[in-house]
Amino acid sequence: MSNSIPLSQPDITDLEIRYVTDTLRSGRLALGPRMAEFEELVALRAARTHGVAVNSGTSGLQLALLALGVGPGDEVITPAFSFVASANCILHVGAKPVFADCDPGTLNVRPESIEALITEKTKAIIAVDVFGNPAYMAEIEALANRHEIALVEDCCEGLGGAVKNRPIGSFGRVGVFSFYPNKQVTTGEGGVIVTDDDALAGMCRSLRNQGRAADNRESGPGLGSWLVHERVGYNYRMCELQAALGVAQMERLDDIIDTRHLLAEKYNSRLVTNPHLILPTIERETRMSWFVYVVRLNDQFDGTDRDEIIAGLRRHEIGASNYFPPIPLLPFFRKTYGYKPGDFPMAETMSQRTIALPFYNAMTDYEVDLVCQTLELMIQRVTFSRN
Ligand SMILES: *Cc1c(COP(=O)(O)O)cnc(C)c1O
Repeated sequence: MSNSIPLSQPDITDLEIRYVTDTLRSGRLALGPRMAEFEELVALRAARTHGVAVNSGTSGLQLALLALGVGPGDEVITPAFSFVASANCILHVGAKPVFADCDPGTLNVRPESIEALITEKTKAIIAVDVFGNPAYMAEIEALANRHEIALVEDCCEGLGGAVKNRPIGSFGRVGVFSFYPNKQVTTGEGGVIVTDDDALAGMCRSLRNQGRAADNRESGPGLGSWLVHERVGYNYRMCELQAALGVAQMERLDDIIDTRHLLAEKYNSRLVTNPHLILPTIERETRMSWFVYVVRLNDQFDGTDRDEIIAGLRRHEIGASNYFPPIPLLPFFRKTYGYKPGDFPMAETMSQRTIALPFYNAMTDYEVDLVCQTLELMIQRVTFSRN
């Protein structure tokens, strides 16, 4: 056994193991009852009528954009400060990403920053609940409606959160959740598209299943139609093993989220007195669902200091990461669109000072303390070596 403290770790109990084992024994490994059940549980949590399970959050975003008719010649507004998938999905459908800078407090994109980027080519807006902190969804939804532009909620980091008692995933035409192992809830790999739009859900079901008519199953009533492909689709299906795991996780969702809240509070109360650190900002009327715990160094530190602190934590076998570098400054986006340092001042400044700390449900008080002590020691060291 190693003493290392990982950045994240899934919360798996005997329930998950039992459900997956039962599915293995059932002999039905794809397009079965567990997928339908999982879809329903996720849709319910997002107060949506449809859930469409897919093999990742990224493929869910791609299908959502395709089903909305986004394609070449269109522009889609998306955050500069986010995980790369919220921009890649736009490239996957041949459209152009237009990046919005973030608010320095919440790290989410403010509605004004989106509105300033709307042109006659804007076909959709992707709003991201960064780190599980609900974006300004009600306001963004209103502006999307005013401009008659489709809103996609990339809620891949926000399952279980809410704004003014409206759940994350319920905003805009369509929302997409991810179930990668570092998210609040996992299926190993996986995603779910949620929407109230029957036609859009049907299109996503068809596209994930090789362009077959929606909900076509190998041994379903439509005998012979399994090989009728109405359109060019993908194999983006979620298998029954993944869905069985997801059903167990969804049954435990409230517990999982509550445990993460307590853990975040432990970090907050332990670090709040440190003058070098800025703790996560949560706006009133929002219920955060903690995806990761990210602190920020104050403006006396730069990117080199931050990288040294992360390297120091890692030397002590403590997982830490620089969530996130600004997407437009990643090599592909620089090369293709000519973005350069200075184009997204907030995202750049913030992203040079963020540190994601270990955050998982099995974390003990001792581990939280050890992480905080080591973090403070590394900050001191950087401060001393400077003077
Ligand atoms: C995790 C994540 C995704 C993609 O999810 P995958 O399931 O890993 O494909 C998309 N957007 C954001 C903001 C994410 O954090």
